[in-house]
Amino acid sequence: MEVTSFPTYRIDLDFTISPEIAVLRDRIARFVDQDVLPVEADRSAWDPHENIGDEALQTLRQKARQEGLWCLQLSPEAGGLGLTKVGMAVCYEAMNRSIFGPVVFNSAAPDDGNMMVLEKLGTAGQKARWLAPIADGAVRSAFAMTEPAPGSGSDPGMMQTWARRNGDDYVIEGTKWFITGAEGAAHFILIARTSDDTRRGHTAFLFHRDDPGWEIIRRIPIMGPEEHGGHCELKFNGLRIPKENILLEEGRGLKVTQTPLGPARITHCMRWLGLAKRCVEIASEYAVRREGFGMRLAERESVQMMLGDLAMQIEVGRMLVMKAAWEIDRGGFAQREVSMAKIQVANLLSKAADVAIQINGARGYSKDTILEWIYRYARQARLVDGADEVHKMVLNRYLEKEGKDFWHWEVGE
Ligand SMILES: Cc1cc2nc3c(=O)[nH]c(=O)nc-3n(C[C@H](O)[C@H](O)[C@H](O)COP(=O)(O)OP(=O)(O)OC[C@H]3O[C@@H](n4cnc5c(N)ncnc54)[C@H](O)[C@@H]3O)c2cc1C
Repeated sequence: MEVTSFPTYRIDLDFTISPEIAVLRDRIARFVDQDVLPVEADRSAWDPHENIGDEALQTLRQKARQEGLWCLQLSPEAGGLGLTKVGMAVCYEAMNRSIFGPVVFNSAAPDDGNMMVLEKLGTAGQKARWLAPIADGAVRSAFAMTEPAPGSGSDPGMMQTWARRNGDDYVIEGTKWFITGAEGAAHFILIARTSDDTRRGHTAFLFHRDDPGWEIIRRIPIMGPEEHGGHCELKFNGLRIPKENILLEEGRGLKVTQTPLGPARITHCMRWLGLAKRCVEIASEYAVRREGFGMRLAERESVQMMLGDLAMQIEVGRMLVMKAAWEIDRGGFAQREVSMAKIQVANLLSKAADVAIQINGARGYSKDTILEWIYRYARQARLVDGADEVHKMVLNRYLEKEGKDFWHWEVGE
């Protein structure tokens, strides 16, 4: 009988993380457990906008820096830890077990996305002037792109804020809104129109809070807790920005927005997974100790179904986030991976908070736990950095282009 020779089939998929990342994750988790959660539990340490108060924040930041847990998203040269995106995914999840974790480690939105874009696209001079103070925790930053209707929202082609050339400067006129952190931020990245071209007509500029020719009209009241500096409406009436404060180059503004929004969307998801796990933690803890009708909640199959389903949805989110992170780490654009992760995790976060509140009964609806905080916060997740529908539109574009190859496996070497 003829003997056929078979190739050796390698196992190429690897879902392991490095021992170094595991150690770092454990250090972050310990810090969150021992230092951040007690502050989270003490409402007197909060500010009026339901975020961590400045005094507690500065104390925790100092300690986090001393322990080398700072700016997870930056390279060591820029003052960070030099993690890959996969490493960040592991650590961000641990960091956001507490609602205050990210800001303590200087890895909260919008600063983390702004730092990543400045590190990637800034000149050496721009990094020294605009990035270093944010990385140092000395100033906060904001990213100003969205405008009220009929301006730029989901569709950046609708942008109405203009930057008109005047000598060596550009003069800015227009309105932006929902600019997170604008109140009190010192460094701004602004996207404005420099021509009518829908793809090459946007330019990214850097400006400082003290530059004249712009103002904050209002801090927009919102349903959820607020990032430091709130979400503000800005009016530009003659802000002059010198041409050396263009990020990248004139006409490349959309490229700039893609640079932070890919990684920043995925870092949102990494953090939200931590919050979703916290919801399960609070729900499970209550289900184990709460008795009624002769048994503990945790013994009821209906409750087990709820928690089992959440556990699975979190794992689906983690897989999608990891795939996107891995793709970015190897130099890919990861647009569809990021879109899938963003839709899944944004919806998961709302569901996790909702289910956890249900399992906790009236306690879940109270402010005795942070579930109601997460519930209100979670609603924005389906809007910010691209509404669900926009990400689904992007996915459908890939589907139309690639057909059943949408689900291809890339063949390794
Ligand atoms: C809490 C919060 C923080 C934010 N922070 C910032 C910030 O720091 N900087 C900044 O620039 N912006 C920020 N934004 C704005 C955010 O990026 C926009 O809300 C988002 O891009 C959507 O734009 P829009 O609100 O104008 O919605 P619109 O463009 O008016 O869309 C409204 C709705 O229409 C639907 N829709 C839109 N397009 C499509 C489509 N193609 N197919 C099907 N349905 C569609 C979606 O359901 C969408 O929710 C923030 C928003 C929130 C809520």
